[in-house]
Amino acid sequence: MSQDCIFCKIVRKEVPADILFEDNDMLIFNDINPQAPTHLLVIPKEHISTFSELDDAVLMGKIFTKVNEVSKAQKLKNYRVVINNGKDAGQEVFHLHVHIIAGREMSWPPG
Ligand code: 5GP
Ligand code: ZN
Repeated sequence: MSQDCIFCKIVRKEVPADILFEDNDMLIFNDINPQAPTHLLVIPKEHISTFSELDDAVLMGKIFTKVNEVSKAQKLKNYRVVINNGKDAGQEVFHLHVHIIAGREMSWPPG
């Protein structure tokens, strides 16, 4: 747990979020500034700053299994799964999160 981390505050329910799913390991909630009609964030409850620091294969498996499950549950067919790793890659919140983005056509490559 990190005192100042916004996502740790969401985990501790000190900051409100629109939570879709929660278990012992992770939390899924709507992004506050959605980039598409569906924009979910999947986060581990444990404070892990970046994807680079995720060295727990079991947790990694749980997160990506849940990404798949929630996408199916939301009936998403075309969607993007994004992890920004580091500032230059666009990471702004340094608590690992997986974006699930869907509901509009998306361009490639990213800017
Ligand atoms: P990053 O750029 O770090 O990959 O993505 C951070 C994401 O977290 C952004 O899409 C941003 O809108 C979202 N975000 C930042 N602060 C909050 C918050 O307090 N609540 C929610 N629900 N999303 C947040
Ligand atoms: Zn955190």
